[in-house]
Amino acid sequence: MAKTKTALVCGAGGFIGGHMVKRLKDEGYWVCGVDWKKPEFGASVADEFILGDLSDQAVVKKLFNRSFDEVYQFAADMGGAGFVFTGEHDAEIMQNSALINLNILKYGHESGNLHKIFYSSSACMYPAHNQENTDNPNLAEDSAYPAAPDSEYGWEKLFSERLYFAFNRNFGVPVRIARFHNIFGPEGTWTGGREKAPAAICRKVAETPDGGTIEIWGDGNQTRSFLYIDECIEGVRRLMESDFMGPVNIGSDEMVTINQLAEMAMNIAGKKFFIKHVSGPLGVRGRNSDNRLIREKLGWAPRAKLEDGIALTYAWVQKQVNAKRNGIP
Ligand code: NAD
Repeated sequence: MAKTKTALVCGAGGFIGGHMVKRLKDEGYWVCGVDWKKPEFGASVADEFILGDLSDQAVVKKLFNRSFDEVYQFAADMGGAGFVFTGEHDAEIMQNSALINLNILKYGHESGNLHKIFYSSSACMYPAHNQENTDNPNLAEDSAYPAAPDSEYGWEKLFSERLYFAFNRNFGVPVRIARFHNIFGPEGTWTGGREKAPAAICRKVAETPDGGTIEIWGDGNQTRSFLYIDECIEGVRRLMESDFMGPVNIGSDEMVTINQLAEMAMNIAGKKFFIKHVSGPLGVRGRNSDNRLIREKLGWAPRAKLEDGIALTYAWVQKQVNAKRNGIP
């Protein structure tokens, strides 16, 4: 009989980690989830869920008292532009996220119980000067250096990528690293200041009566691509099963302006609004996933249409908005 595979999912109380737990359970894994908060939307389906602070050495050391075939590291201080680009949370972001990665690698490696680890980096580590053009940003994996991310969040991701590769070089820890590009979907943060553009726009569209006004940060001509959660999870699983360490982009190459994203959400909702452009933290001018390397190495790249993902996300966000309106926690 085949042995049941075991996995540890760090950040299992969050958006991508929560979806990964479900996927691994569906594949027959025994899964342990860890996070310092419980999942926001429903209970985790993990076999065991540990509430703990991964920046605390004692917590991480104890975690690795047992062996895991695979570790998925999603825990980080995360947020949309309103959290990451204001500069107000820089120290917290760098300290917390770096400590998590330092602890996991040190105690995982020392225990002998870490056999393969996935690390979630971000497109935010790419140089800002390659993302000034809305039509033609350069986000090929080999454009990362000379490094010049536009946020401390991006600098920490770059540092941690290097940390994972150093543990691979010096101690032979098998690592897999992906740079995610704007992942969205149901059960993502949709309110409270850490939400990203797709969920924020879906929320504004759901909350605002037809004919009203919604606010968009900047002129709305900044470009981005957004990847639906299921394809992100598929990409991570394929990378984990492959011989390729990365780093590799996991993102969509269907680039849209933020104004187009808003139009899309309005059409899905069957509403029409005035868009008011207001000042706000913006990030880079243009960003799109370059999917040449993932196609070459994994023979696969995300293909789902943005509109289909936004329709599913809008339906979910609308449900949350209605529940809140009706006082349902
Ligand atoms: P998320 O905020 O939903 O999940 C991160 C989880 O980490 C949260 O549940 C949080 O409580 C947990 N966490 C933070 N600090 C912790 C600590 N000290 N101890 C224990 N748990 C802690 O974010 P997400 O969207 O699921 O992102 C997952 C990973 O992917 C993150 O590393 C993020 O930087 C990366 N990423 C995400 C995106 C995206 O668009 N969502 C894009 C690029 C990279």
